[in-house]
Amino acid sequence: MTDTQAIKDRLDIAQVIGEYVKLKKAGANWKANCPFHNEKSPSFMVHPEKQFWHCFGCGKGGDVFSFLQEMEGLDFPEALKILADKAGVKIDTFASEVNKSQKNRILEINAKAAYFFNHFLLEMPASSGARDYLARRELKPETIVEWQVGFIPEQWDLLTQYLLKKGNSIDDLLASGLTIKKDVAPDSAKASTGKGAYDRFRGRIMFPLWDAHSNIVGFTG
Ligand code: ZN
Repeated sequence: MTDTQAIKDRLDIAQVIGEYVKLKKAGANWKANCPFHNEKSPSFMVHPEKQFWHCFGCGKGGDVFSFLQEMEGLDFPEALKILADKAGVKIDTFASEVNKSQKNRILEINAKAAYFFNHFLLEMPASSGARDYLARRELKPETIVEWQVGFIPEQWDLLTQYLLKKGNSIDDLLASGLTIKKDVAPDSAKASTGKGAYDRFRGRIMFPLWDAHSNIVGFTG
């Protein structure tokens, strides 16, 4: 069973919606004045049996997740988390992983890339030139670790291939800006394998850019 179904099964949709809207019994169902449009007589229906809601006035409808999203202005992962807690269902990490918003996935990609650059700088023989350069610039080793300064050698798609192997999608990598599409005929580019895509940064010392929440939001080479 999927996590979302388990959550729906444990929650009474009428009870969840009833926390926001005054519901009146209508046979096996419930009705109310729609919270999403202005009306005087109720055309907003909640069907506990089928676990959905629908408004005949404005045409909106959906399940308990979409109701909470609409009502609270949440994205799906946020609604999932709130309702999972309410239902006492533990969402497995895989499901929450795929449902994460792209913005959060890109922050994770940046963190993985910073780790990759930093380890490459500290441990790979190919980085000795970069290490010498930073030593001449009097950048202390502890600063390199703390700021996660890194290095990427002059290779075509080293980082892109590493991040694909770590389970990231090529779409997210392109959206992160760390990977760019090769300018080739479309039929020779195989987007799913990462062929036809290459690293934006090559042969450079890398400095992560941090935001106020200790997220890495980008890099400067
Ligand atoms: Zn409505």
